[in-house]
Amino acid sequence: MTDLVTRVAQSLHDKWCEQMREKGFYGSTDPIGGYTLHDKFHSGLIPWPDLPESRRQEYLATAKAVLPEIVGEVFDSCIIAVCESCYAGHSPNKNGLHILVRAGYRSERIRCTAQAIRALRDRHLEELKK
Ligand SMILES: [Zn+2]
Repeated sequence: MTDLVTRVAQSLHDKWCEQMREKGFYGSTDPIGGYTLHDKFHSGLIPWPDLPESRRQEYLATAKAVLPEIVGEVFDSCIIAVCESCYAGHSPNKNGLHILVRAGYRSERIRCTAQAIRALRDRHLEELKK
């Protein structure tokens, strides 16, 4: 997950650079001829490894802030895709069983088929908190 946080942070920086270039900015590492006299210089338009540590930490903090939301959403989509009971909005108990009570019938215990995905989600979200 650390790799994912770093990759997302780098992507955020790359996207920011792309948007700045579209707005007519250039950086110190842009090739001569890649910009016009009308373009404006911006010192932040440099490759990820050249960024000051403080700037890299800001991107990493942003990535860490948004990733739990995204990761949780993706895993939750997988959970409801593989388990009908989860899809129906029933949560399994701590033993991974859905206890379905139907009027006039005995309760029915169904093993949640998304337990492995749920465990994976929880592990990843826990790692993202570190
Ligand atoms: Zn389930």
